[in-house]
Amino acid sequence: MDSAHVADDLTRVLYTPEQVTERLQAVAAEIDRDYAGQDLLLVGVLNGAVMVMADLSRSLSIHCRMDWMAISSYGSGTQSSGVVRILKDLNTDISGRHVLVVEDIIDTGLTLSYLISNLRSREPASLEIMTMFRKPEAQRNAVEVKYVGFDIPNEFVVGYGLDYDGRYRNLTAVGTLAPHVYS
Ligand code: 5GP
Ligand code: MG
Ligand code: MG
Repeated sequence: MDSAHVADDLTRVLYTPEQVTERLQAVAAEIDRDYAGQDLLLVGVLNGAVMVMADLSRSLSIHCRMDWMAISSYGSGTQSSGVVRILKDLNTDISGRHVLVVEDIIDTGLTLSYLISNLRSREPASLEIMTMFRKPEAQRNAVEVKYVGFDIPNEFVVGYGLDYDGRYRNLTAVGTLAPHVYS
């Protein structure tokens, strides 16, 4: 059967590309204000944060640098494994730097709390978190997130960098998958 178009696999659109852009620009304005006159290092968490990093960084007016980490948390399914591993470390020494971690989504916060304690041990001047999406469970976690794009319901979403089994990252909208995709 013809797979038609990736967008056809969404049952419900939570955010249109326009809504994502509008919210991201508001968050960027906050970051511009908070980091005015400082040298900012954005740390993107691969692969999900690629889209938000690209769009956020280009919405900023202040100077910034970018670096990337890859950590494993989820497998190919939709449940957090609780296993966190560094697959690719930073190229930058972050000691004494102002670091803003850029995330796609926080679900349990397991991945992030591991990452933050790891980065904190490298003694950055400051360490904050920006995430495009946050699920309810994350708010029970001790990790403090300074910038949040959207608080979303506890559903598995795809698009705007978020995948299901490696696919759907290139959707510009964010939504939930149709049941036929999982079966
Ligand atoms: P956590 O450790 O916070 O439970 O999970 C964080 C990671 O799980 C995210 O970076 C993302 O890769 C994945 N994840 C969590 N919720 C979702 C979701 O709704 N959709 C997708 N595609 N990935 C998710
Ligand atoms: Mg992520
Ligand atoms: Mg994933």
